[in-house]
Amino acid sequence: MWTTATSDTKHVTDYFLRRVTIDLEREDIRQEAIACQDLDDFLGGIARSFQLLAHYEVQDAFAPTAPLIMNLGVFSGTDLMTGLRIFFSAYSPLKIANNGRPLAMWSCASDKFGTKVLAAGVNEVIFLGRAQRPVYLLIHRDDTEGLTLSLEDASDLLGKTTHEKILQLADRHPDSHVAALGPTGEHWQQNFYAAIACSTVNQLHSRDCKPRFAGRGGMGSIMGSKNLIAIVAQAPDVHRGKLPPALLEANKEISRGPGSRNYRDPDKGNGNGGTWRNVAGLHPIGALPEMNFRPQGNDKPVVLYRKSLESNSHYFIKDESCFKCGISCHKNIYAAEEENGRRKPGKFFTKFDYEPLDLLTINLGIYDQQQALEIVELVDQLGFDSISLGVTLGYIMEYNQRHPQQPIGDGLSFGDFHGACRVIQRTAAGQLPEVGRGVKRLSEQLGETAYAMHCKGLELPAYLPETNPGYPFAIAGGHMSMRTFLLLVFDGKTDMDYWVDAITNPNRGVYYMRDDILGLCKFAGAPDKVIEPVFKELYGVEITREDLVHATQRTYLRGLLLERQQGTTVDDYVLPARVYERNPNVQLPHFITPEFWHELRQRVLQAFEAQIETYGLREAT
Ligand code: SF4
Repeated sequence: MWTTATSDTKHVTDYFLRRVTIDLEREDIRQEAIACQDLDDFLGGIARSFQLLAHYEVQDAFAPTAPLIMNLGVFSGTDLMTGLRIFFSAYSPLKIANNGRPLAMWSCASDKFGTKVLAAGVNEVIFLGRAQRPVYLLIHRDDTEGLTLSLEDASDLLGKTTHEKILQLADRHPDSHVAALGPTGEHWQQNFYAAIACSTVNQLHSRDCKPRFAGRGGMGSIMGSKNLIAIVAQAPDVHRGKLPPALLEANKEISRGPGSRNYRDPDKGNGNGGTWRNVAGLHPIGALPEMNFRPQGNDKPVVLYRKSLESNSHYFIKDESCFKCGISCHKNIYAAEEENGRRKPGKFFTKFDYEPLDLLTINLGIYDQQQALEIVELVDQLGFDSISLGVTLGYIMEYNQRHPQQPIGDGLSFGDFHGACRVIQRTAAGQLPEVGRGVKRLSEQLGETAYAMHCKGLELPAYLPETNPGYPFAIAGGHMSMRTFLLLVFDGKTDMDYWVDAITNPNRGVYYMRDDILGLCKFAGAPDKVIEPVFKELYGVEITREDLVHATQRTYLRGLLLERQQGTTVDDYVLPARVYERNPNVQLPHFITPEFWHELRQRVLQAFEAQIETYGLREAT
């Protein structure tokens, strides 16, 4: 963003952003400078894309007229640590209302792709139409020509994995970063949860498969439906010189403060080891999803604790990071090698994060270290959302356990690693649409919905739904957009007032979306008090915590109104019915009864209704 205002103190409306609108069908590319109208425009990310989505009438997520919006938050691509996020927003083919209409959704990814988009001078791209040939968008900036955008032939990329496409394009366009589909996104008619893989500095340097994914909600399927196979951002890095004091202070807090502690390793300011720690944390209390979200009460998951792989001499675990991030939350696993009596990393296997690890292994009854490495890597290469895929496969395995005479999904059963890999490959190739279209459609088709783990069609992340009644109110998945997961573990509260407040209080559950506006990583846990002076330092604007709370709540409520606009009713806000059955292996209070749920839902929706009135949003949408 830029401004022509010269005074030290500026207003958000002094700023302009560059929007590019691309009609893929006509190969027409239009650039415009947009003046920020208000705080939400200025902050960007989903605060802006949700306002844009309200202008589109979308009945079919794959209709050429449906937009795919790629944009940045106010801190994306800046020197504020973890300010790396790029957002993809659209009406999702996967997240749907009971009437079948697509619902608004976003997904985002870190590392340097967003930084390169900003370096090229672009803040937002709206993709419309469907290209008549497979194309990739080249966003290019250099000192002589300035910014140029072109659609390039992508036919030689088809059939390649996420990693292969990224390397091929990065080699072809030096000093670039890349967002690309895998085969899953190319078969979008059959696959509704394809991810968009964004290249990382580490990946391009090491040539190991280490992209970051905008995974949730099928943003890669939408991109595939537009015949847009990849996006390349090629621009020289921006060197801004010595960091000013508030920025330095904020970066220190982000890299070593308490907010990011859970994601760091012990040698980095006494960290707790990353998301992988959840396997060892949740398993002993029976809160780890196993065999389609049914904790089994045995020791089998122990083999996939981090300490179990650490004590296996075959593996070397190394914490690595996104571009310039001091948290280093990536736990990358390599074959261990010996050199001069010292262990060192050899061949790269994959990265373990809690969600893909649990949902592609333990949730499928697979308890083997090498198999875990292989299945996680396979899913990354093919470009699936690992959460949606793992949940759908878990459902199929339970269905087959219940119906051994009429199995589905190639007869998959719990623990069948080779069968699961085969189904994954066939699904990516578009051969198993019943798997690729997600668990809501599959379970409704089969007439067995009670154990289909989704809300509004979006498969649940790896936290048991009987521990989180906030799930149905999340706009973009329960571990990304509503901070009510794990509350039962930490607070142990089961009373109605506590949960209504956790979901509706603007300072609690919904405030988790703040970083989806600003462009920061949620793992940074950046306190508002360190961000406030950075606004002043970088942009000359005064923005307070209160402003951020209101902007976040407004954006949430806009998301809710976008759902209403598509025809959701109270019946769209439901939990999987199995939450009402108590699993004796879950060592947490069982408190969600049908009565509890119905009263909670009524109070939550009433509270949001009142907030919509207070913010005056109904008229605006
Ligand atoms: S915390 Fe992890 S995901 Fe977030 S920016 Fe840092 S390395 Fe990337």
